[in-house]
Amino acid sequence: MTEQLSRTFLRGRVLRYRLRRNRRTRRPGLEVSRREGLVVSVPWRAREEIVPGLLHQWADWLVAKLDEHDAWDGPCVREYATGSELLVLGRPRRLRLKALDPRERGWRAELSDDRLVLHMPAEAILSPRPVVEQYLRGLAREHLPGRVEHWAQRVGRRPSRVIVGERTTRWGSCSPSGTLSFCYRLVMAPPEVIDSIVAHEVCHLRYLDHSRRFWGLLDEVCPQHRRCRDWLNEHEDDLII
Ligand SMILES: [Zn+2]
Repeated sequence: MTEQLSRTFLRGRVLRYRLRRNRRTRRPGLEVSRREGLVVSVPWRAREEIVPGLLHQWADWLVAKLDEHDAWDGPCVREYATGSELLVLGRPRRLRLKALDPRERGWRAELSDDRLVLHMPAEAILSPRPVVEQYLRGLAREHLPGRVEHWAQRVGRRPSRVIVGERTTRWGSCSPSGTLSFCYRLVMAPPEVIDSIVAHEVCHLRYLDHSRRFWGLLDEVCPQHRRCRDWLNEHEDDLII
């Protein structure tokens, strides 16, 4: 797969998008999200000149999606430096990036009430995103299994496996075989919100659908889940790294 950033005009506005070529892509496709902006997927040998026609063909749908996700300017990419803020467990922490001693390897983190100090190799400080991501993934792997355990006891069902990874469309999911998967960026949300997502997925271990029985169980064990869902919808942009 190759990818290039490109731009064009749509309805008189500048539109930035990513053009993705994939050997397995047969037909062109469009996808819009806040995190990735507009992604135009085309077959490996397609010419870029086909893109404007494609965009105009789908213009009504596209304009609505681009407005909805605020995605005209392309992918939403955060810059991290000393002084930036990062949400960790629902609290904004002031970031401090410090160079490790050249003899040390890897990275380490110190989290306090209002600060997150990340020690990393000096050369990583210029583009620290991978360390920020690894830190959040590690924190999610520490925090989430304990919360799954808590809710598994309340609901009386155990998952067969818990996976913490990247998901772009959902915060969590439950497979028919009882595997629970969560997006690591969930650890940026407040503990109560994280719990409501975990409770939701654990309840699926009893009812693998969104039936009335399912919502009845979730309402009973985690009555705050609706409020938490509203928080997530409202703060989706804050949970992008
Ligand atoms: Zn569900």
